[in-house]
Amino acid sequence: MAETSFDLIVIGAGPGGYVAAIRGAQLGMKVAIVERENLGGICLNWGCIPTKALLRTSEVFHLMHRAKEFGLKAENIDFDLPAVVKRSRQVAGQLSGGIAHLMKKNKITVFMGVATLPAKRKVKVKTDKETLDLTAKNIVLATGARARELPGLEADGDLVWTYRHALDPKRMPKKLLVIGSGAIGIEFASFYNTLGADTTVVEVMDRVLPVEDEEISKFAKKQFEKQGMKIMQKAMVKKLDRAKGKVTAHIEVGGKVETQEFDTVISAVGIVGNVEGLGLEELGVKIDRTHVVTDKYCRTGVDGLYAIGDIAGAPWLAHKASHEGVMVAELMAGMHPHAVKPESIAGCTYCYPQVASVGYTEAKAKELGYDVKVGRFPFIGNGKAIALGEAEGMVKTVFDAKTGELLGAHMVGAEVTELIQGYVVGRQLETTEEDLMNTVFPHPTLSEMMHESVLDAYGRVIHM
Ligand SMILES: Cc1cc2nc3c(=O)[nH]c(=O)nc-3n(C[C@H](O)[C@H](O)[C@H](O)COP(=O)(O)OP(=O)(O)OC[C@H]3O[C@@H](n4cnc5c(N)ncnc54)[C@H](O)[C@@H]3O)c2cc1C
Repeated sequence: MAETSFDLIVIGAGPGGYVAAIRGAQLGMKVAIVERENLGGICLNWGCIPTKALLRTSEVFHLMHRAKEFGLKAENIDFDLPAVVKRSRQVAGQLSGGIAHLMKKNKITVFMGVATLPAKRKVKVKTDKETLDLTAKNIVLATGARARELPGLEADGDLVWTYRHALDPKRMPKKLLVIGSGAIGIEFASFYNTLGADTTVVEVMDRVLPVEDEEISKFAKKQFEKQGMKIMQKAMVKKLDRAKGKVTAHIEVGGKVETQEFDTVISAVGIVGNVEGLGLEELGVKIDRTHVVTDKYCRTGVDGLYAIGDIAGAPWLAHKASHEGVMVAELMAGMHPHAVKPESIAGCTYCYPQVASVGYTEAKAKELGYDVKVGRFPFIGNGKAIALGEAEGMVKTVFDAKTGELLGAHMVGAEVTELIQGYVVGRQLETTEEDLMNTVFPHPTLSEMMHESVLDAYGRVIHM
C-alpha cells in the first residue's frame, strides 16, 4: 500500500516544484510530488529548454550562411524541419528523464495525476487508475502557467499557434505574424525568421522587448530589422479572419486599421496562472487575476500552504521559481532564508542577438529618484567579439552616483545570456563601481566589455 502521509507535498513538477521537493528531501523531510503531465514542467518540456534547442539550430544555420566570412565553404545549406523538432523534443525528453532520476535519488514519491486541495493539509490525487487521499504538514503549490489567449485571437493549432504548437510545428510558416514581442514572442520570431519565414512582429507597446532598457530595445530592433523582420510598434491585432490556409489580421496602428495576410500566427501575449480547479477559493487563498497572492516568503496566508513560481506571479522565470522552491523548503525546516528580490533576478532572451539584463533600467532608476552614472561599451571595441564575427552589441551599466552601487546592467549581443551572471553575482555581493573596476577580467573575452562599461561610467574607459 502506497504511503499517504508526508511532511511535504509539492503540486507540480516544474523548476519550482521539483527543486522544492529536492531541497525538502535534503533537509530530511518525507516528500511527495504530484504531476499531471511531464516531470520538469513547462520549462523542461515546453519552455526554456526546447526553445533553446531550436534556437541553437537557427544559430548554426545562420553561421553556415556566413561560412565564406570565416574562410569556409558551405553549399546547398538547407534544413529538415521534422529533424530540427525531433532534436528539440529529444533534448526535452532527456532532461525530463533526468528529473525522474533525481526524484528517485532523493527518495521523493512521485504521483502522476491531477491534484486538488479538498481541505487544509490535504491533497487528493486522481491518477489514471485510482483516487488517493494524501495528507501533509506543508503543501507547496507550483502549478505554473499556460499561454494567455485573447478573445478572437485564440489558438487553433492549425493557423494560430501558442508556444506549444510553435515548438512542435507540423509545417514551416512562410508568412508569419507574431503577436507580442516579449521574450517568448521574440525568440520564436528569431527562430522562424532565421529559417526563412517572412516574419512580422506586432507589439502594443512603443518598443520591442518592452521590459528591457529603452536603448537595448532600440538596438535589438535595428538588428532584427537588418535580418528582415518587420516590427510594428504601438500596434494592436484587433481581429483574425481565418480561411483555408490563411489568416487575415486586422492590425490597428496610428489610429487606422490595416489588413495583412499570413499563413501562420503565433500568439505570445503573456501567460495566465494555473489557479483553477484546485479548490483554492474554498480554502480562502487570495487570487489576483490569475495569480495566487503571497507574501515575500511565498506564504498564501493559509497555514502550511505556499505558492511558488509562475502561479505566484512575475517575474515568470524558471530560476525565480527554483529559488523560491529552495526558500520555502528552508522556511519549513525552520531556517531563515532571504526573500527573493525580483530586481536581482536576471532576464535573458535567446534571440539573435541575445538580450540579458538585471536590476533597474536607466529610466526606472531615475524614476526611483537615483542620481545615476551610466556606462556603455560597444562590441566593436572588443577583440574577442571581432574575432568571433560578432561585433554588433552593447553593454550598459547603471550606477547610483552617490554610493557607487550597481543598480542595473543591460546587454545585447553574442553570449550576453552567459555574461549577465557576472553582474548578478556583483549585485548579490552588493558590489560597487570600485570593486568592479579593480577586478581583472581575462583577455580576450567578451567579459572585458563588462569591465569597460563600468570604466566608461566613471570616465576611465580604455578601448573607446
Ligand atoms: C516558450 C517558453 C520559453 C521559456 N523560456 C524561458 C527561459 O529561457 N528562461 C526562463 O527562466 N524561463 C523561461 N520560460 C518560463 C518558464 O518556463 C517558467 O517560468 C517556469 O516553467 C515556471 O516554473 P513553475 O515550476 O512555476 O511551473 P511550470 O514549469 O509551469 O510547472 C508546473 C507544473 O505543474 C503541473 N500541474 C499544474 N496543475 C496541476 C495539478 N492540478 N496537479 C498536478 N500537476 C499540475 C503542470 O503539468 C506543470 O508540469 C519560458 C516559457 C515558455 C512558455
